[in-house]
Amino acid sequence: MRPEILFPLFADAKTLPGVGPKTAPLFAKLGIEKVGDALFLPPTGVIDRRVRPSVQGVMEGTTLCVKVEVVSHSAPRRPGSPYRITVKDGALDFVLVFFRPAPEWLNRILPVGGTRYVCGKIEHYDGIAQMPHPEVFDPEKEDAPDGFAAVYPATAGLGQKVIAKAVQAALAETPDLPEWLDPAWLKKREWPGWREAVEALHAPVSPADLDAASPARERLAYDELLSHQLALVLIRAKRRRAKGRASTGDGQLRDKVLASLPFDLTGAQERAIEAIAKDMAEPKRMLRLLQGDVGAGKTLVAFMAMLIAVESGGQAALMAPTEILARQHHAGLGALAEAAGVRLAILTGKDKAAERRETQAALEAGEIDIVVGTHALFQKTVAFRDLRMVVVDEQHRFGVDQRNELADKGQGDGVGADILVMSATPIPRTLALASYGDMDVSTLDEKPPGRQPIDTRMVSLSRYDDVVDSLRRAIGEGARAYWICPLVEESDTLDVAAAEDRARVLRHALGQEAVAMAHGRQKSGEKDAAMEAFRTGAAQVLVATTVVEVGVDVPEATIMVIEHAERFGLAQLHQLRGRVGRGSARSSCVLLYQGPLGDTARERLGVLRETEDGFRIAEEDLRLRGAGDLLGVKQAGLPRMKIADLDVHGDLLAVARDDAKLIVTRDEGLASERGQALRVLLYLMERDESVRYLSAA
Ligand code: ADP
Ligand code: MG
Repeated sequence: MRPEILFPLFADAKTLPGVGPKTAPLFAKLGIEKVGDALFLPPTGVIDRRVRPSVQGVMEGTTLCVKVEVVSHSAPRRPGSPYRITVKDGALDFVLVFFRPAPEWLNRILPVGGTRYVCGKIEHYDGIAQMPHPEVFDPEKEDAPDGFAAVYPATAGLGQKVIAKAVQAALAETPDLPEWLDPAWLKKREWPGWREAVEALHAPVSPADLDAASPARERLAYDELLSHQLALVLIRAKRRRAKGRASTGDGQLRDKVLASLPFDLTGAQERAIEAIAKDMAEPKRMLRLLQGDVGAGKTLVAFMAMLIAVESGGQAALMAPTEILARQHHAGLGALAEAAGVRLAILTGKDKAAERRETQAALEAGEIDIVVGTHALFQKTVAFRDLRMVVVDEQHRFGVDQRNELADKGQGDGVGADILVMSATPIPRTLALASYGDMDVSTLDEKPPGRQPIDTRMVSLSRYDDVVDSLRRAIGEGARAYWICPLVEESDTLDVAAAEDRARVLRHALGQEAVAMAHGRQKSGEKDAAMEAFRTGAAQVLVATTVVEVGVDVPEATIMVIEHAERFGLAQLHQLRGRVGRGSARSSCVLLYQGPLGDTARERLGVLRETEDGFRIAEEDLRLRGAGDLLGVKQAGLPRMKIADLDVHGDLLAVARDDAKLIVTRDEGLASERGQALRVLLYLMERDESVRYLSAA
């Protein structure tokens, strides 16, 4: 139950003045559905509302308020020209300009002979001062403008006055809340109390007050980050207590696989497997992220983890985000499964009904040890005899709920399967904290030995012919190459057209049979055939859209050409490049760009030339593009932040994370006085789920 003190803030926004049946949807667009939401709408500007004597001598572009008398109206003479109202202030006549207004409305708010205050931006047109679309105040009905006013993000149909009025009403409803921040920390940062901060947020008097680094905004951002981190830590503490199966295994199957490998595990792989085995041996549920660059050898680690489940008499499932990836995993794991002598199957939405029924029956009967699949694994009809381990590949494409849903199939009695999440997207520390705070992390920071560095070059598209010439020479010597065509503005039709064009041209240049093509719109049979041709070497060039981004594994491929590299994100380019350099032969990557490149674009592509370290690339990407843009906030699994901005408040995130850990270590039940205040914060920031976990503890 939410504390009573917060009730006023959770009332429907419609209880605020100016929020009615018509405007409520507009307020909802601004994220305001409850009274409290209005508190967290940060102003984006500030207007000086101090009334000046006249617009005389005022510079172009200045915003100000003056008292005027309405002189005359002049309706537009031609369609498209504005409605003009001449007014006079203490010293000068000037013109209020309205484009496409309703004349009756103007006659009502600005009647000839009336006295009004108008506020707006001064422009000059033909030497005459004018003020387009001013705010109008009627001194007989409302207070004269005064002081400073916050400017809120605009949404069509909602005037500033309406928004400001609703915000002020929400502030009036706002109770005093107990302080949840550590007093010493507050003092050190010289931050205001919560209520004071919220009031200051909505009362800017200078542009400095709009700065994300202003004390009020920093404090509120910290509250937001702390509530998020605290929720993660609490949920995680609960997960740690969540019962799981203790899976130990005797190591027999793992030994067989290790003996079959032509290489040794890397130190990082060994450490990860050890950490996983330790987690799995506990009668608690594992929730671990296995993070590592493309080619770091995550799949093998995951397979070992699945073998532990099988050695313990249970089953394991590996879930991939796409059909292609599921099939590739299935194919890739075949040899390992054979070496271990375990039964491996695949389950996807595309299976024939009879086949699928058969697989499901075998899973239920325990005749399959390890199953690889897609979303199809979630389905209610899929039951396991004893699911002990769930591996989720490329987790950002699945939601947290989905991942848990599958693991819950483990047992009906609330004992879920262990979860291992694999991610090949290196995530900078700041973002990892924010989005994976609820997981333990193993990082494969060491590549298998013997990999040659990839020779990465930037080449202008104007040298396309040269590139094709060298490609012809290379495939003449037996090389295999990817040619990646970019996404065209999110339109997969154009996208496909571009890939088809490119394939046509390259076939003409390199020979019909030499070029295969794979893209998102193909029937899966066609696509599989293309991939297969490339895998076996029947085709030496694979023209593809970004479908190959994840997971294609053809160690013989040594050339990666990326067309319009400047349109891709750095992380994506890094992933694509990781498709080559997998074997022992020297590989190259050609970043074909459309010039001229701006400075940032040049710098971004330059980073790729300098390093193959995915974490460094991610950090650089973060620096050059900003956190909001990096992965797409949603992809990174971050909640939408209202005030906090990781570009500015990134360092506060680490503090919030430590603070949250410390709080939970000292007072797991949030029972102390500060703990009670923190509960209020969690509810205020709508982290109700975490508080529920608390009371269930
Ligand atoms: P990831 O899934 O992390 O991108 P993979 O698991 O697909 O990487 O591994 C890439 C390639 O490296 C595979 O061909 C795999 O067999 C091989 N590999 C894995 N571990 C090692 C190792 N310790 N030494 C040499 N090669 C390895
Ligand atoms: Mg992989």
